[in-house]
Amino acid sequence: MRTISVKAPAKINLTLDVLGKRPDGYHEVEMVMTTVDLADRLELTVLDSDEIRIQSEHAYVPNDHRNLAYRAAELLRERFNIQQGVEIVLDKQIPVAAGLAGGSSDAAATLRGMNELFSLNLSLEELAELGAEIGSDVSFCVIGGTAIARGRGEQLEMIPAPPPCYVVLGKPKLGVSTADVYRAVRMDEVDHPNTSAMVEAIRQKDFHGICENLGNSLESVTLKLHPEVNQIKETMRHCGAEGVLMSGSGPTVFALIEHEQKAHRVYNGLKGFCPEVFVVRILGKRH
Ligand code: ATP
Repeated sequence: MRTISVKAPAKINLTLDVLGKRPDGYHEVEMVMTTVDLADRLELTVLDSDEIRIQSEHAYVPNDHRNLAYRAAELLRERFNIQQGVEIVLDKQIPVAAGLAGGSSDAAATLRGMNELFSLNLSLEELAELGAEIGSDVSFCVIGGTAIARGRGEQLEMIPAPPPCYVVLGKPKLGVSTADVYRAVRMDEVDHPNTSAMVEAIRQKDFHGICENLGNSLESVTLKLHPEVNQIKETMRHCGAEGVLMSGSGPTVFALIEHEQKAHRVYNGLKGFCPEVFVVRILGKRH
């Protein structure tokens, strides 16, 4: 029995700029994304039958074709005429519907894992291209590290990692549907982050420059729908976090913090009322 274990790290958006609505219904975006060391773990096993089986203990994670990992397995089986099936055991650590790309990262890890398991010999770039057929964030999750993502998120320009720092993640009880948030965007009201200033700060390893240039066009939209997200932002700031922003379409908020002691102060400040809180680090390297 062939089994492989693969890690699927979460991502955060240091910037997310919504540039406009496209005729195909997607929004044109420009985002700076980086992976953090909060990860789901997937165990993939080759099956003799031709099924795709998903096992997860998480109540809100579907175990059929609605699961992005299932779709990744299905895509590779069809495209490369793979006769055998695969069982995917998902150990979810990334909060669900959180703005951390958990589902996309599971799909990306499935592509990387099956590439090895079935000796497909595809490059990460080839896998990222396939990933775009599953979802806009899957391409980035295939490669990992730090990148500027354009188009609907699938066009990647890799950039160096930000300087090492602590990241405190706080997710309120609610889940957010990315589609609902994009539907509520009014282009004439959008705030645009300064992406090139962010990229320059990253290249210069300028931690304070990074904190000053954090920006997310979707933040005000999600805050209007779910004002309680603001309480997490305010608590993080009050506890001394240097940079605070909502990730993706939310509702997870992250704080960037230089020193460990302060990271724990922010963690403790949130622990009372925020159900899911994590202290993690930025993962610098691509897969
Ligand atoms: P993004 O940041 O890419 O918008 P997200 O972190 O907001 O993603 P996910 O955790 O990927 O959201 O989940 C969104 C929805 O997708 C969930 O409500 C769930 O029903 C579905 N889903 C499909 N596959 C998965 C998976 N492998 N893990 C978690 N949720 C999944």
